[in-house]
Amino acid sequence: MTEASGIREERRDTAALLGGDDPWDIVIIGGGITGAGILREAAREGYRALLVEQRDFAWGTSSRSSKMVHGGLRYLASGDYRLTRDAVQERERMMNEAPGLVDNLYYIMPHFNRQFPGPGLFGLLLRVYDFLAQRRTRRFFPGESVLRWVPGLRREGLRGGTRFSDAVTDDARLVLRILQEATNAGGRAVNYVRAETVTPPSDGGEGSVTVHDELADRGYELRARHIVHATGAWTDRLRSQLGGDQRIRPLRGSHLVFPFWKLPVSVSLSLIHPRDHRPMFVYPWEGVTVVGTTDLDHDQDLQKEAVLSRAEMEYLLEAVHDAFPDAHLGETDLISTWSGVRPVVSDSGGRKKKPSKEKREHVIWNDQGVISVAGGKLTTFRLIALEVLDHVRTDNGIRRELDEQVFSPASAMARPNALTAWQWQRLCGHYGSRVEEVLEAGPLMPIGHTDTLLAELVWSCRNERIGHLDDLLLRRTRLGLLLPEGGAPWLEVLREYCQTPLGWDDARWQQECTRYRELWRASYHLPPESGA
Ligand SMILES: Cc1cc2nc3c(=O)[nH]c(=O)nc-3n(C[C@H](O)[C@H](O)[C@H](O)COP(=O)(O)OP(=O)(O)OC[C@H]3O[C@@H](n4cnc5c(N)ncnc54)[C@H](O)[C@@H]3O)c2cc1C
Repeated sequence: MTEASGIREERRDTAALLGGDDPWDIVIIGGGITGAGILREAAREGYRALLVEQRDFAWGTSSRSSKMVHGGLRYLASGDYRLTRDAVQERERMMNEAPGLVDNLYYIMPHFNRQFPGPGLFGLLLRVYDFLAQRRTRRFFPGESVLRWVPGLRREGLRGGTRFSDAVTDDARLVLRILQEATNAGGRAVNYVRAETVTPPSDGGEGSVTVHDELADRGYELRARHIVHATGAWTDRLRSQLGGDQRIRPLRGSHLVFPFWKLPVSVSLSLIHPRDHRPMFVYPWEGVTVVGTTDLDHDQDLQKEAVLSRAEMEYLLEAVHDAFPDAHLGETDLISTWSGVRPVVSDSGGRKKKPSKEKREHVIWNDQGVISVAGGKLTTFRLIALEVLDHVRTDNGIRRELDEQVFSPASAMARPNALTAWQWQRLCGHYGSRVEEVLEAGPLMPIGHTDTLLAELVWSCRNERIGHLDDLLLRRTRLGLLLPEGGAPWLEVLREYCQTPLGWDDARWQQECTRYRELWRASYHLPPESGA
């Protein structure tokens, strides 16, 4: 089989899956972390399950989060002990099972004169946080020590800082890894397939979902005993077909990405924005420094990439200037930006609360037998999936042990000499049981200053249902966020390795490069000149 025919086979496989005669046990709509988690649990429980995603896997919010796998100090502060406990336990589980994908990240909350919360109260909160994780990470440092972790931090009024720990991930790869686990267990997932209409299951019988294969421009009707709808910020669209009320308040959050050397932080710095006292973070991620995030109503078309506004950029830069007065960072220092839309389930009816006052928990609805779920966060995807399946399981489905591992162990092979211990751990975390295939796919050469190896791109082109170049550069890898100009200077090198496995001729490659450059400039770099 030639490499290009592998891609054609993927599309044929899509047609066969969508056009098959047998009904599915469960059709899941939405390929973000929530849908991926449900597919994985459903497949493990023995359901014949299919997931459809309208664009690319993780194209929605799940590739645009702040990438923190956190227990949620915010929940604890508002007294929600159970939610925090569950999230902390899930965080610990993921760090243990998938190091290299979900890793410990230290945080420092600096304490400035007359700023809330002070070290006493904050330390008290962290006592409970550490207790839930069964490990102690909190520690108070005097001002000079804080400056060693966060050089350049404002000295004026700095009393010290409290360190604690949470975790960080690559959110899009987390989704892809869960999808990999799901397909290993027999689940199926296709991207670029949009659900158009949903007909609820008749009493004990089948329902149906009409879908459109966006790449092949072809429609299908899928029959299913259960339909689960996990479309995040898009939830109201399909629910309204079923008479569901409008509950989603899309709230945008944006991030700025700087070269690490311009803002060298070795921990995640928790900040309080000087203007409105919202919590914010400046943190290291994949060799760059990220500043985030904002929280405001998103009135743009959800079918388009979310884009940060000039006002958001200025708001984020204001916090950077306040915390790092000598860094003098501005928009010309940015490598990239990204924005995502929180699928916040609002309970405020017509009266809008301040965005920061809206709860972030998930909600599950049953509209005429179609189960919808929205809200929540990355960390608790497994618990959300189990809860959704509890709503589905009106029949003989077998509930698996709650404690079963989420991530199957990576290969038992020893680390190749060409890789450092960290590179090897990262590869094992990202690719799990398929890591050996990745090693054999191409050169183990890092691209630019990133940890991404050329071999990963080649393997991904062959195996990860890439429809467009941005799938490869923004979600399978994060080169578009990490390299200057979205990695455009690297495109010729990538062409040598990727064009053949993608099965694209020269014209298609050029077309994809043009499309990618335009998309990156419009949505992952500076904001448009006008617009709030
Ligand atoms: C700025 C920001 C920062 C955040 N930071 C964190 C964080 O640090 N940690 C954390 O845990 N959480 C964080 N979150 C929250 C977290 O990212 C989301 O809760 C989570 O990604 C939602 O996942 P989802 O699968 O429900 O939605 P999505 O990821 O949006 O997935 C829904 C998918 O459904 C698809 N879809 C829509 N309509 C259709 C259709 N008709 N047919 C087929 N597919 C369809 C969409 O294309 C989309 O890919 C953050 C969110 C934002 C916005």
